[in-house]
Amino acid sequence: MKLTISSFSALLIGGLSLLMFVLWMASLLVLADRQNEDSGSALQHNLQAQIQQLQQNQQLWLQSQYYLLNTLAKSPDNNQNFQSFLWGYYQRNPSIWAVNLVQFNERGLPLSKSSKPGCRQPDQMLRANFDDFLVPRISSCRIDNKALLEIAGPVVTDGDAVVLLVSMDYFDFLNEFSSLTGRKLQRAVDSEQDFQFFEYGAAASDENLIRVKIGVPGEVFGELYLQPQPLSFWALFERQALVVLLVLILGAVLVMLLLQRFLLGPMQALAGKMHVAVHGQPQDGVSKAGVVRPGLGKLVDYFNLMQKTARLDPVTGLNNRVIFEDRLAQAIREGKRSGRKYALVFIDLQGIDEFVQQRGQYVVDALLRQVAESLRESLRESDHLARFERNLFALLLEVQQRDQLHNLVEKLYLSLIRRYRVYEREFELDAFIGVAIYPDHAVDANGLYQKASTALVAAEHSEWPIEYFHESEDQTDTSGFTIIQSLRRAIERDELKLVYQPVVDLQSFQTVYLEALLRWKDPEGHDVSIEQTIHLAEQNHLIKSLTNWIIESACRFVSQSELGDVAVGINLSMIDLHDRRLPERIETFLQQYQVKPSQIVIEITEGQIMQEPQKVIEVLAHLGVMGLSLSIDDFGTGQASLTYLKELPVEKLKIDQSFVRDIATNPDDQLIVRATIELAHTLDLKVVAEGVETLAVCEVLAEMNCDHVQGYYISRPLEAEQVSGWFETLVKPDLVRKGR
Ligand code: C2E
Ligand code: MG
Ligand code: MG
Repeated sequence: MKLTISSFSALLIGGLSLLMFVLWMASLLVLADRQNEDSGSALQHNLQAQIQQLQQNQQLWLQSQYYLLNTLAKSPDNNQNFQSFLWGYYQRNPSIWAVNLVQFNERGLPLSKSSKPGCRQPDQMLRANFDDFLVPRISSCRIDNKALLEIAGPVVTDGDAVVLLVSMDYFDFLNEFSSLTGRKLQRAVDSEQDFQFFEYGAAASDENLIRVKIGVPGEVFGELYLQPQPLSFWALFERQALVVLLVLILGAVLVMLLLQRFLLGPMQALAGKMHVAVHGQPQDGVSKAGVVRPGLGKLVDYFNLMQKTARLDPVTGLNNRVIFEDRLAQAIREGKRSGRKYALVFIDLQGIDEFVQQRGQYVVDALLRQVAESLRESLRESDHLARFERNLFALLLEVQQRDQLHNLVEKLYLSLIRRYRVYEREFELDAFIGVAIYPDHAVDANGLYQKASTALVAAEHSEWPIEYFHESEDQTDTSGFTIIQSLRRAIERDELKLVYQPVVDLQSFQTVYLEALLRWKDPEGHDVSIEQTIHLAEQNHLIKSLTNWIIESACRFVSQSELGDVAVGINLSMIDLHDRRLPERIETFLQQYQVKPSQIVIEITEGQIMQEPQKVIEVLAHLGVMGLSLSIDDFGTGQASLTYLKELPVEKLKIDQSFVRDIATNPDDQLIVRATIELAHTLDLKVVAEGVETLAVCEVLAEMNCDHVQGYYISRPLEAEQVSGWFETLVKPDLVRKGR
């Protein structure tokens, strides 16, 4: 039978109730014992007090009788008949055991005139015994097995001194006591005493007897024994059982309800929720979640799993960024304390995005696992490795000697760039590595991240793929940090936009291509300078994602618009041109959106080529082979070597707008532009003049044989939706001449 949370709680409550019941029984035993002890002494006090009270009453009564008789004895009328009066009085008062009027002869011997003869022994009745009776005295005494309470006092009749004795049977008092307390008294005789001694009570051997002295103060003549009725366990049980059982049942029900409501219920719900969180669907059969041991075990498992997933990268099983940041903070604290040095190493894998598009995420995940394994194998226990972002691994190493660090990082790189075999497919990976060192390059985590990113960017541009941060590279604009965060989000959420500016042929007035220009509003809704954004993205390792977004959006635009032969121009960043996989990246999107290579024009600037000519030329040549056309942007602002221009599959030169803007009025600009156009034509290149803002400029350019124009005079950059409208109102010759 499976123990469910509900039956478990029932068992728990049952067990608790039983335990409480047993405790109660035990408490009854103790209670009975204690009560018997307590009630013994309490009863003793109680009885003592009652007896004293009774004795006092008796004494008072005797006294009143004495004064009554004394008064009567003094009265001359009654004097004659006093003896008979006493007799009558005695008979009328059952409480009076004897009334004696004791007279004495000349020798002081008693001349007893007792209402009850033999009441006192004659020797006790000597006058001398009463001499000190100035006031009546109460005493207790024993005569003929009789316990008496007696008041004796002087009475003066006819000038003779006599003593009046009024006695009452003490047992009357005891009887009265007996009826008062409801306790039976037994009479016992103790014959070992000098005189016979009466005891009242149970067997004297019993230790639990309560002893109460009887007599008048200072004249105790007996003891009263009382045996208190013991309080039995069962009597107590009977008295309390019903109430206790009721309370137990009600308590159990209440506790069960509370348990269910505040503990077990939420536990069940939590188990269910955790199951959904882990498995994505509710548990089949709710009852399973309620099974206690596996249920709680599962809860713990889920909890561990969730804790793990919060810390670990689910693909590689490496720590994630959160944990890495924590480790880095710890290392910096440690460094501050002990003066140790640490290296933050960023490892950026190349081409992963393209692999995802070509082979799917599943395969790439397996590849990433192998990469993580390779890295792990080259590391020491104390080094911290994490998957920081999608293609970016971060490593934290303690630096003992720079040489060692260099060797280790190189070893890491070499272990990475090998062939990987995943699901029968071969992959070749490349990587860039950027390194920053605490405290040489930065003393806080944020600074280290920036410096390592800068070094990474430098690595992407350099011959050798591993770079250590150099001061001269530190152009990172920290004020751009938040804007970079926003840009990262904007790329992920597709919040950027491309606008399209037509480039128009000056002869045919046909649109040659539309240049795609990036637009982005920052989180406050302001237009952000695109050149600055591109620069920040380059500096912060974001340009590839951004360019991918631009290429994809442009391809999507081409596939969704009816452009005919009109191409779309894409501006590339310098960093893109240093990526050997750029052609592959573009190819992927071309295929995905079914776009012909001839429909894309790539714009690059002179400066970009000159950065690392051989590498860039290799990439651009590849693009040319693919069938894309190239355009040199901002021509005239850099120093592009004509040799390179000849080597490149370039089709167009775009003369920078700084030369075009004032061409109608500035002879120098005219000279430059004319020469450039002639040069371009010699090299068999088409010329685009950008920044054409007026009809005058347009006319000068036409006269100079410029091939194409672009600028506000022709059209401002258009929203994607406006492009079809642009084709409907194609630029006419007169429009060019007379202005739009
Ligand atoms: P560019 O490629 O030379 O683009 C031409 C720039 O001149 C654009 O500015 C355009 O709006 C502006 N322009 C066009 N006609 C006129 C005119 O008649 N008068 C004036 N004063 N300006 C005109 P924008 O869009 O601000 O772009 C500036 C630069 O940012 C671009 O220069 C390009 O280098 C870069 N950029 C723009 N979009 C992208 C992009 O998608 N990717 C990359 N990597 N860079 C881009
Ligand atoms: Mg351009
Ligand atoms: Mg330009």
